[in-house]
Amino acid sequence: MLILGNGRLLTLGSKCRVIEDGALLIEGEKISTIGETANLQAVAPDADFIDCRGRLIMPGFTCAHTHTYSAFARGMALKDDAPVNFPQILERLWWRLDQALSNEDIFYSALVTFIDSVKNGTTALLDHHAGPNAIEGSLELIASAARMAGIRANLCYEVSDRDGEAKMLGGLEENAAFIKKCSDEKSSMLTASFGMHASFTIGTKTMEKCARTVNDLGAGVHIHAAESREDVDDSLDKYGMGVIERLDKYGLLGDKSMTAHCVHVSDREIELLAASQTNVAHNPQSNMNNAVGCAPVNKMLAAGVVVGMGTDGMSADMLEGLKTAHILHKFCNNDPRAGWKEVPRMQFENNARIMSNYFISGLNELAPGAPADVIVIDYDPPTPLTAENYYGHLVFGVTGRAVETTIVAGKILMQNRVLTEINEQEVKAKARELAVKLWERF
Ligand SMILES: [Zn+2]
Repeated sequence: MLILGNGRLLTLGSKCRVIEDGALLIEGEKISTIGETANLQAVAPDADFIDCRGRLIMPGFTCAHTHTYSAFARGMALKDDAPVNFPQILERLWWRLDQALSNEDIFYSALVTFIDSVKNGTTALLDHHAGPNAIEGSLELIASAARMAGIRANLCYEVSDRDGEAKMLGGLEENAAFIKKCSDEKSSMLTASFGMHASFTIGTKTMEKCARTVNDLGAGVHIHAAESREDVDDSLDKYGMGVIERLDKYGLLGDKSMTAHCVHVSDREIELLAASQTNVAHNPQSNMNNAVGCAPVNKMLAAGVVVGMGTDGMSADMLEGLKTAHILHKFCNNDPRAGWKEVPRMQFENNARIMSNYFISGLNELAPGAPADVIVIDYDPPTPLTAENYYGHLVFGVTGRAVETTIVAGKILMQNRVLTEINEQEVKAKARELAVKLWERF
């Protein structure tokens, strides 16, 4: 048993409250009690005790879309002229990078991303992997990194036609094998989806093959959907329908599926997403960085679409995306009221729902019976922090680097900024060595 006490406890969840001098008792993988520190110590006098010294105790952050394979792109120079549109960004950066990845790169890219996640208080994430010259066994490599780091991860390999039929089939088999393995293991730490790159790199034959496999396995898909205008135009030109309509035609929408981005979706497609309760990940920093547009999140949320927050690999700090979303939608809608309600709804309420489709219910909330995915943040608010105004504190006062303790499923992964399971310096040194070689091959 473990008590985190002497903190300012922010529960989030439907009955959000702030408990001054708050504490929580962890038994095994779950939270058993929350309350005031003295009361919990009286209930469990023999429990180990972490003194949070007035710091903020809250649920871990969750990320609905990221790419661990992109980690070694940090600081890398391109070999071609700077891309002028999204397809060129893929061709000149990401598709050159993913082709150069070796098994060792995949493992260390994942491990440094997971370390970054733990250090920024992100405790669960959905990853979307690519690496066409090292497909077989790649998801197990990422899984072993996730196990080492101790965080919850949903994994998939992106199928596409861009590298020919053999690699398309290799991707399909990698997904199928990993989905079967995860469904046998039934873990709430490690789960699988069926990855697909995007509509514009998947022709009719491959789409049919994917749909058959997904239905046979009872899985959901994880795909980039209507991220850029080019994806939509391709679908309209070739198939006479939008990207979401195309996925619907093949039975690929639903609450097990993740359609990342949805920047360019029609009203009819928003209805389809809402009716099927398909998960959507909003990635504001990535959309701005790729200059692909501003997703209509207000419209989607108003229609009942489950839009949550991802990073698309831009950062492991969910607070960066939260802050960006907070100002992006004011800017795009020319409306200073935008963001205040929508962003916390996406980051906390909807991400909790999304995570319940992939891992376990009760994430993003501190409550008796909820999974013990908890972070402690070095934040001493200069103004009152309440259940009504916590969002303003997170936007204007907190960054991921202030997270000092991260616990997932009751296990302490980082305490006082030091990782408990991994030698961070050794991993980073090895990653730098591998990155130099990868940049040469890129
Ligand atoms: Zn992505």
